[in-house]
Amino acid sequence: MSFSSDVKKELSQNISSACCYKAEAFGMLLFGRSFSLSEISLMTEFQSVAEHYCTSIRDLTGVTPNMTCTNAGNYKILIPTRAERIKVLEYFGYTGKELSLRINLSNLEQSNNDCCSRALLRGAFLVCGSVTDPNKEYHIEFNVQKAKLCSDLMQIIDDLGLKAKKIIRGNSYVIYSKDAESVEDYIGTMGANHAFMEVMQTRAMKDIKNQINRRTNFESANMSRSIEAGLKQVALIEEILQKIKLDDMTTDLSELCSLRLENPDISLDELGKLMNPELSRSAVSRRFKKLEKIAAELKSK
Ligand SMILES: [Zn+2]
Repeated sequence: MSFSSDVKKELSQNISSACCYKAEAFGMLLFGRSFSLSEISLMTEFQSVAEHYCTSIRDLTGVTPNMTCTNAGNYKILIPTRAERIKVLEYFGYTGKELSLRINLSNLEQSNNDCCSRALLRGAFLVCGSVTDPNKEYHIEFNVQKAKLCSDLMQIIDDLGLKAKKIIRGNSYVIYSKDAESVEDYIGTMGANHAFMEVMQTRAMKDIKNQINRRTNFESANMSRSIEAGLKQVALIEEILQKIKLDDMTTDLSELCSLRLENPDISLDELGKLMNPELSRSAVSRRFKKLEKIAAELKSK
């Protein structure tokens, strides 16, 4: 099951107060496939949405929609008769002859917490929205067929304090948002609490992973620096050994040289610990300085 379908299933099962139940059904009708005198219909791939659409219309208006399943596995819902369509349209304050469909705000009860605006958004999302799995990317969108309806929905989204952008894609108007925080806000605002927690956790996990990655990169950068330094020292020692034998060096230097040749990839710290007696990092470093001096002298001879 896709993340979208999980969210829709959760939203379809939400229990709304009476005012919001109406606002949500209104959202589903208005942003469904068609809401006019000649046709009131919805086409959806989600069973939970199809059933919720039918139940809401029946509960509120007493009209029973007709649901069929297409060969492609989609659910097609129609209100069969003209008389029934008029009943549904009138219930939401429409005649069905409107030239351009707008959101009739009288279907939303004014309240302090914007409950009905959120319910309308939820209804719209159920029938024309989708959200990508936050593990893959952050993306939520509403695909609206009519320009003015799109503007009205944008206004509601704006009033709810949510961020959105608008583009035209083919024949539709798409309202979308692509940042993590917004996707989280939309899901929370619509009331999918379970999905909201999931997105929040995913985001927290991503943050932690990023932090770990940054640290690993930093550590491996440090490590490659020390390997690089080790290899340079090996080259230096080999250069010296072309002119002086190991046995001819002082003991402190010959021991360091042979240990470095055996362990080209360890840090100065670790190299110091292998010496007998143990040496500090800076003491090891001083001895390499000495070796560099010797190499320079040998070169100039
Ligand atoms: Zn309400």
